Formats: sequence, C-alpha cells, structure tokens
Amino acid sequence: MRILGIEGTAWAASASVFETPDPARVTDDDHVFIETDAYAPDSGGIHPREAAEHMGEAIPDVVETAIEHAHERAAGAGSNEHGADSSPIDAVAFARGPGLGPCLRIVATAARAVAQRFDVPLVGVNHMVAHLEVGRHRSGFDSPVCLNASGANAHILGYRNGRYRVLGETMDTGVGNAIDKFTRHIGWSHPGGPKVEQHARDGEYHELPYVVKGMDFSFSGIMSAAKQAVDEGVPVDDVCRGMEETIFAMLTEVSERALSLTGADELVLGGGVGQNDRLQRMLGEMCQQRGAKFYAPENRFLRDNAGMIAILGAKMYAAGDTIAIEDSRIDSNFRPDEVAVTWRGAEES
Ligand code: ATP
Repeated sequence: MRILGIEGTAWAASASVFETPDPARVTDDDHVFIETDAYAPDSGGIHPREAAEHMGEAIPDVVETAIEHAHERAAGAGSNEHGADSSPIDAVAFARGPGLGPCLRIVATAARAVAQRFDVPLVGVNHMVAHLEVGRHRSGFDSPVCLNASGANAHILGYRNGRYRVLGETMDTGVGNAIDKFTRHIGWSHPGGPKVEQHARDGEYHELPYVVKGMDFSFSGIMSAAKQAVDEGVPVDDVCRGMEETIFAMLTEVSERALSLTGADELVLGGGVGQNDRLQRMLGEMCQQRGAKFYAPENRFLRDNAGMIAILGAKMYAAGDTIAIEDSRIDSNFRPDEVAVTWRGAEES
C-alpha cells in the first residue's frame, strides 16, 4: 500500500509518501518520505493570510515532489504492481482540521485534485489524532495515553469505546503558542520554543505561576508573569528555565494523573513542543517511576508533518474509512473526540 499524505494546517506545507505492506504495525519494509516547506514569518507570529499565501505557493511543489517519489517507488517495485497507466498511489490522505481555515482550504483542494487525477479514494484525517497515532504506530504500543504538546493545542487523550477522549486540555492558549507569545515580547523571531530550550540550559530556575485545575491546565498567567519578570530585570535565561520547569511539570503531572485514571501503562508524546529534550526527560522519568513505558517519536514526526497524515491515512484507508469529494469540506475546529476510530478494530482482526 502506498499513501500520499498532505499537511498544511498552519506553518508546514508538507507532502509525504508512506509505503507499507501492513499499516497496522511497523515493518522492516516501511518507507516514509516527507517533503516540507516551512512558513517563517518575517516578524511576529503566524499571520493567517501570509500562511495561506505560503500554502498556495508551496503545496503544489511539495505535492509534485512526493508524487514523483511515489512514481519512482512504484517503478522500483516492479511492473506487476502497477501497469503503465495505473496510479502510483492507492489513496490521498489530507489534514481536514483543526487549523487555519484559509490554509486548510488549499490543502483540501490539492488533495481532491490529486485524488481525481489518479482516480483513488480520499481520506480526511484529523491533525490532532494524527499527532497521537504516529506515536502509537511507531511505538507499537497498544492503547497508550497521549500527551499532545503542540503549537496551537495541548491536551491529553485516552481511547475508550471507539473514540479518543479528551481527558485534559488547556483552558486558554496552546502550549507552543504561549511560549511563542513570550519570545515575541522579548523580540525573538518565530518559533520561540527552540530558543527557550537553548537559553534555559544556562538559566537558574525562576518561579512562575503553576496552574493545574483537575485535569486541565492554563498557560496565560505564566506568560504574563514571564513577560513581567523580564521587564523587571530578571535574566532572560532564568525566566526561560522557570518557564520550562513550570509548564513541563504541569504537563507531566496531568499525564501521570491520566495514566492513573485510565490504568494505562503506556504514554506517547506528540506535537512540536514534544521536540523539547527537557519535556521528554521529565515524562520519561515519571513513567519510569511508575513502571510505565514512554515513547517520543523522532522529531520529524513530532512537529507538523505530512508523514503522520499518511500513516493515519493508511490505517483509515485499510479500514475503508474514505470520504466522497462532496463530503470532504474542511473543519477548522475539528476536535479529536469527534473522530470515530474505525481503524483500531481493523488492526485487531
Ligand atoms: P498544532 O499541531 O496544534 O496545529 P502547530 O501547527 O503550531 O500546532 P507544531 O509543529 O505541532 O505546530 O508545533 C510548533 C510549536 O512547537 C511552536 O510553538 C514552537 O515554538 C514549538 N517548539 C518547537 N521546538 C521546540 C522546542 N525544542 N521546545 C519547545 N517548543 C518547541
């Protein structure tokens, strides 16, 4: 099976080819090709209009590159697999949401066009569930709790009765967006997360508000306090260190509570903030202390990427979970718990 994936919910114009003999598990013959063209704002954060302009320019190129790659793979696989006129891909998977509406519309249009060009089915993927499923797929874990720590979101998910349930989530901004707002305030370019990680290494811990309410958490108070601290002369490195320790301790506490609540003994990490080494170490230590397993995918699968869209797309396609073009409208507020998880039953059979 060979699936083309297209991602473009915010900053990453990305296309992927996922080839596998069995989408239910990682095999030695799996192959994931990812081509990404990132939008980097000249100043400030992500501007929706500029991001959409970037998608309009970059999506056709990354998709064309991925299609060329699929053709090469098909040719290499031998003439029996595909005849001269047949398609190099079995389906097209695309991110339907959540994300920026103008960006999503460009991705959906491209996906529909490619599906029609090759006369293959279309698969509509929830971007947040893809952040989760790529970790579940590559870890081989059965039913993990997932911490999604991404730019525009932050939530803890657990599977029950055919859906991923949101066990806890941010009450205000996404975790990466909160960090980026702080770095914008001090004049650093977007994205701020990697810079905070670098500066935190040289800093002393500076105390910031710790806000966990039940299973939910809030970042806006931390950001205001962090901005104020820098304005009052606290060294930036110390504030970065305090921010990492505070935010990641909150996420670790709620992840632990989710493991305890669900009785799960596996945790996977998803999302661009998940690339942070300190967050990975805190989660890893917590899991080790309670005898749970922890898995963080490679960075190329943590930040936004079309590989995760193609991987979940392959699982959905194998389960017959495709959509007609007329039903393939985007959903910029597409929540993960709205998705009927069709593919897990198919994996077990
Ligand atoms: P979403 O998946 O919710 O739509 P997104 O589209 O913003 O989010 P992601 O790629 O998941 O994209 O995450 C991007 C975020 O990750 C940015 O806010 C960025 O600052 C943050 N980030 C990247 N690297 C690091 C790091 N090393 N430490 C902390 N944060 C990081």
